Amino acid sequence: MNQSTRIPCVVLSTKAMVFDTHTHTLFCRHAALYMPRAVVAAANARGLKGVAMCCHCPMPEQYDYKHRMTMEEWPSFVDVVARERELCAQMYPDITTTFNLEPEEQARLRALDVDGCVEAYFSQVGEAASSGLFNVMAHLDFIRFRMISIGHRDFTLTPEDAHFRHVLTCLDAIKAAGVAVEINTSSVAKGFKDHFPSEPIIRAAVERGIPLVLSSDAHRPEHVGRGFLTALKTLEACGASHVSHFIGGQRYETPLGDALAAVSSHASDRAVEQVIEEARPMLWAGVEGGDVLDAVAAVSARAGQR
Ligand SMILES: [Zn+2]
Ligand SMILES: [Zn+2]
Repeated sequence: MNQSTRIPCVVLSTKAMVFDTHTHTLFCRHAALYMPRAVVAAANARGLKGVAMCCHCPMPEQYDYKHRMTMEEWPSFVDVVARERELCAQMYPDITTTFNLEPEEQARLRALDVDGCVEAYFSQVGEAASSGLFNVMAHLDFIRFRMISIGHRDFTLTPEDAHFRHVLTCLDAIKAAGVAVEINTSSVAKGFKDHFPSEPIIRAAVERGIPLVLSSDAHRPEHVGRGFLTALKTLEACGASHVSHFIGGQRYETPLGDALAAVSSHASDRAVEQVIEEARPMLWAGVEGGDVLDAVAAVSARAGQR
């Protein structure tokens, strides 16, 4: 199936629509305990127009349990996000919310040499793009972080590296599938000076006409929209003309100049932290180290919201 026709694009030229396309909620066990509404409150404080909640999807056999909800929690997740979405539409009518999932399966890298690792990783990403299941490929070169964490301390993924060719093959698959790539700003908190993916990969994506979206990969509300101005300037330096976002599987574009102007006037990290701090009693689950469902029940009772 031709994804380009399955995921149509509408060009918005009247208003800058800057979305954070990748955030998490308390259902992801390594995220702070806060309700989805806190993500939307943060997006509102920041000045964004939309936010996607992309929780790590449950996996059978409690695979990688510490990063995700269990299969048993799935019905509660669906129920909570539906109710939170309704609530947020009333509390923050200017913010569009979308609920999504971040599925992942890690290529088995440890047994392979460096080129084998890079090939396995990017061929799996390319297969995922071609599957027709996804709108956005997240943190495309996350293997940089993974390789360092499995002991390849000097690992690089630059156009000078022979294994960079696997990135380009993957980008060709992404282009053919009509899928977007995100610029993920969480890389900075992980000790990288650039984004996921790095500038040479963004440039190669722009050359291919692959749509690009902005993501914080926030695991705390105050991280929503972080580093977006730098990310947009990077997109500009890489030759991009637009930034995209998705609503209901449909892609929308905002001209880069409009997005830059909007984000330039967004609230600072400090101002957002302050707004979130003041709203903490209403927005936070506030149960440190507790069970997710207990936390949901506690904050729902406190806020008088069903
Ligand atoms: Zn996570
Ligand atoms: Zn994530």
